[in-house]
Amino acid sequence: MSEAVGDLYEVLQVSRSASKDEIRKAYRKAALASHPDKVPEDERETAEIRFKAVQQAYDILYDDDKRHLYDTHGMSAFNGSGEPGMGGGPDLDDILAQMFGMGGGGMGGMPGMGGQRRPRASPNEEQKYEIKLEDLYKGKTVKFASTKNVICSLCKGKGGKEKATAKTCSTCDGQGFKEVLTRMGQFLTQSTVVCSTCNGDGQFFAAKDKCKKCKGKKTNEEKKMLEMYIPRGAKDGDRIVLQGEADQVPGQEPGDIIFHLAEEEHDVFQRSGADLMATIEITLAESLTGFNRVVIKHLDGRGITIQHPKVPGQVLSPGQVLKVPGEGMPIKRSDARGDLYLVVDIKFPDEQWKPSTAVLERLKEMLPQSDVRIQADTAEDVQYDAKGKLEDFGSKDPSGGSAWEDDEEEGGQAQCATQ
Ligand SMILES: [Zn+2]
Ligand SMILES: [Zn+2]
Repeated sequence: MSEAVGDLYEVLQVSRSASKDEIRKAYRKAALASHPDKVPEDERETAEIRFKAVQQAYDILYDDDKRHLYDTHGMSAFNGSGEPGMGGGPDLDDILAQMFGMGGGGMGGMPGMGGQRRPRASPNEEQKYEIKLEDLYKGKTVKFASTKNVICSLCKGKGGKEKATAKTCSTCDGQGFKEVLTRMGQFLTQSTVVCSTCNGDGQFFAAKDKCKKCKGKKTNEEKKMLEMYIPRGAKDGDRIVLQGEADQVPGQEPGDIIFHLAEEEHDVFQRSGADLMATIEITLAESLTGFNRVVIKHLDGRGITIQHPKVPGQVLSPGQVLKVPGEGMPIKRSDARGDLYLVVDIKFPDEQWKPSTAVLERLKEMLPQSDVRIQADTAEDVQYDAKGKLEDFGSKDPSGGSAWEDDEEEGGQAQCATQ
């Protein structure tokens, strides 16, 4: 089916650099849009083909290893199945479980197949949670309202009244799915689709027998307050699992809600593992004579005081690093902490500083004298711009060697004229 499907990223309408989260969202959207149940009768066949293509694209792109295989070798790596080196179509049970939260699981909804099925959990719900560095430093408890499907309390997930019996679906003969012939390019292939009459159950209750509370849906939407605890020291990419809090599905263990932490960029601090880094600005006078003051506000609001130097005369240079042990991020499940690296940035005096010649002379006397003597045969006084910009470096040479020759000629003439 490789040629008929086309590019998997196009099938899901995502970019090649899409994140897993984006792929999952695109998949949900595309799968809903192409659900054979949601389209008019005459578009059903096309929808079913698309539906399978979307499922396959998701199976491959959502799995890091398979996605890598696909990116490097294309569909030929999958032998038409979504499983490297394996034949056969995608597992119907997986499709059902992922798409509609159904599947085997001992509910007996699939006569003839139920016996081989092992119980499985309803799908996990995965989502990104953006978090500030401050909150990762201190730890955070997040409370939020979650709307989820809960097994109907009246019919206990049966979908019908207590004494009513479900009718076997005649459209699918109680199978819950149908084999249909679909056209893939020039080939006809047989594929399996969910029965739209019974929604894959293989049976349904007559209107009068449906449970009054859930109206046959077996579950009801309920709002629940949930609490998520993010431990101090948690990192970007960490998963917080709320066990069993995903939508409930009759006959299955409820899946989990899984949050993937995404650390927001911080204005002041950079983090690497348990260590933190920040730039502190001190004045030229402070760099030479020392200081004793708060140099930075930490993530918990504390001012960090540095006294420097311990011995007079130890100056700080631009880019010098002050390492403060134990002031980095907390390390999860321990009392240990990383270190804080403070990078020194020195603010030199600007145009506001108008020292007298006498002051400058005294300064020069007080500071160490330069002993740099560059040996050269001839020396020449040159003009310069004290506010040159490095962005201009190389910009006068757009066409290579010829521009350089022209410059030399003009320069030569100008030199002659002034002499
Ligand atoms: Zn049916
Ligand atoms: Zn009910």
